Amino acid sequence: MDNECIFCKIAEKKIPSYTVFEDDESIAFLDINPLFKGDCLIIPKKHYETIIDAPDKTVRNLFSGVKLVSEAVKNGLKSDGILIVVNNKVGQEIPHLHVHVTPRMKDKKIRGFLWPREKYDDEKEMQEYASRIKSAIDSLTLKK
Ligand code: AMP
Ligand code: ZN
Repeated sequence: MDNECIFCKIAEKKIPSYTVFEDDESIAFLDINPLFKGDCLIIPKKHYETIIDAPDKTVRNLFSGVKLVSEAVKNGLKSDGILIVVNNKVGQEIPHLHVHVTPRMKDKKIRGFLWPREKYDDEKEMQEYASRIKSAIDSLTLKK
């Protein structure tokens, strides 16, 4: 636990939250400043800053929770869809890993979010980006 971390305090029940789900490793609660009403956050109870810092087992548990909360938001709020977002470092306001699970309705658009999109110059550049990521994956999987 990080003493100053607000999400650690929520996980430890030291500050209140509108909790919708919890198990041994994760807890989900309402975002107090929702993109759309019913916006939930799910976090590992232990403090990790980003998805890269968390152990694989923790990430697996977290994303089982993401699936459950997504289905519950869809069924409970009759949403048309679900937006799932994880900010890591850039755009991350609270430095404790959290997944946003947000209800989306067909008639409620979001602006200034997830665009503008960039364009690749050509096929060669696209191939080059794929190669750089694939080589990094090879290095990471060889390490394990
Ligand atoms: P991010 O920008 O991805 O780091 O998102 C952090 C989110 O945490 C924001 O959407 C905030 O509204 C939300 N938030 C901050 N404090 C609390 C709190 N005490 N309870 C619930 N949500 C919070
Ligand atoms: Zn924390």
